[in-house]
Amino acid sequence: MNRVSTPLKQMIDFEVLIVGAGSAGCSAALNLARFCRVLMIDRQANPVPRAGESLLPAANKLLTDMGLMDTFVQQGALPCYGNRSRWGSDRVQETDFLRDPAGHGWHLDRLQWDIWLRATAEERGTTLLAPARLESVEWMGTYWNVCVAANQVYTMYKVRCLVDAGGRTPGLAKRLGAVRTSLDNLVCHWVLGSDQGNEQGQGLSYIESAPNGWWYTAPTPHQQRIIAFHTLANAPFMDRKQTVSTFLKAAGSVQGLRENIDFQTFTQQPECIIQGYTAANSAYTRPVAGPQWLAIGDAALSFDPLAAQGIFNALYTGLAAAESIYQFLSGTMQDFSEYEQTIAAIGATYQIHLKQWYEAEQRWLKMPFWNRFIPTAKLEQK
Ligand SMILES: Cc1cc2nc3c(=O)[nH]c(=O)nc-3n(C[C@H](O)[C@H](O)[C@H](O)COP(=O)(O)OP(=O)(O)OC[C@H]3O[C@@H](n4cnc5c(N)ncnc54)[C@H](O)[C@@H]3O)c2cc1C
Repeated sequence: MNRVSTPLKQMIDFEVLIVGAGSAGCSAALNLARFCRVLMIDRQANPVPRAGESLLPAANKLLTDMGLMDTFVQQGALPCYGNRSRWGSDRVQETDFLRDPAGHGWHLDRLQWDIWLRATAEERGTTLLAPARLESVEWMGTYWNVCVAANQVYTMYKVRCLVDAGGRTPGLAKRLGAVRTSLDNLVCHWVLGSDQGNEQGQGLSYIESAPNGWWYTAPTPHQQRIIAFHTLANAPFMDRKQTVSTFLKAAGSVQGLRENIDFQTFTQQPECIIQGYTAANSAYTRPVAGPQWLAIGDAALSFDPLAAQGIFNALYTGLAAAESIYQFLSGTMQDFSEYEQTIAAIGATYQIHLKQWYEAEQRWLKMPFWNRFIPTAKLEQK
């Protein structure tokens, strides 16, 4: 792909409106704002705490290409040297990033990451409105008329291109006729707390399969740690009323988690513990682009957290969209079909890998969580 290189002639209010100021929206905004006028809106005044803190080594190149690596390193993310798992058997397995040419990955302070990306997009020239929402959108043949509500003020803008970066609920793309398809109903209950003890669990992500789903834990900056359980939305374990203490009791009964986590320090400061429930399903949007609009990040393609690929994909598709939009605005590209092909290829590869990851666990094939990928006929023979 060509890198964005020269400023565009200013024509209308904003060349680009981005709905959603997460990793994807900010990636697109900070890459485009140096060359054209970008308006980005988000329904949240500020980012909120959430799960999702492992950044793949491959993101290092993207951050470098975007001129972000130096300031990223100053944010104090922890190096992630690899993954440890009990998956498919009780044996502990480790894969490290030692031979990865991209270097090591990272464990982020996710809230700080989201705040930093928003600030960077603004520093690069993006106009950010938050909280704000898209009231209406109308296609005018060569541009869009949009109405944005912020602080109870309604403002009309003429915009050349629209970007849906709204995450797992791509409202804009749906409004433009796209359809969202979910591949499963995976959900996640996560808890973030203090972790000052166990050396064993530092520098690695840990994953362990269980009859109803799988556990995950990783250290995060400021001596914190996330513990998460992933299961199906209708599974008995997924009780939204479950308290932190019952969650931690269940986590504490898992051998691998006990080895990696100092549960005593984790529970010492209960007032510092944050928890959340969230959808974590795989899903895709079709079409992912149309005349003068496209969807990026989770709005285009949402990944199972097992892939730890969502933030990388958000950065990547944000950059790819910025390049496509730049080429469109400068007249060297007529539509976004190349972008659509890129997303289709990522989606197809991802689905193959997803099936392979889950098929690697064969111990609980009678359980609904683990037989999702097995054709019914084969299941009956088991
Ligand atoms: C449990 C869990 C664990 C995960 N773990 C990892 C991990 O370890 N590593 C990893 O790489 N990925 C992980 N992910 C995935 C990762 O968090 C997402 O892929 C990533 O956040 C996608 O970025 P995004 O910008 O596309 O969407 P989001 O980060 O969801 O941002 C969307 C933004 O749009 C805003 N918005 C939504 N609708 C509207 C609207 N109508 N109007 C205005 N604004 C709107 C939202 O407020 C939000 O700010 C995990 C996901 C889950 C659920």
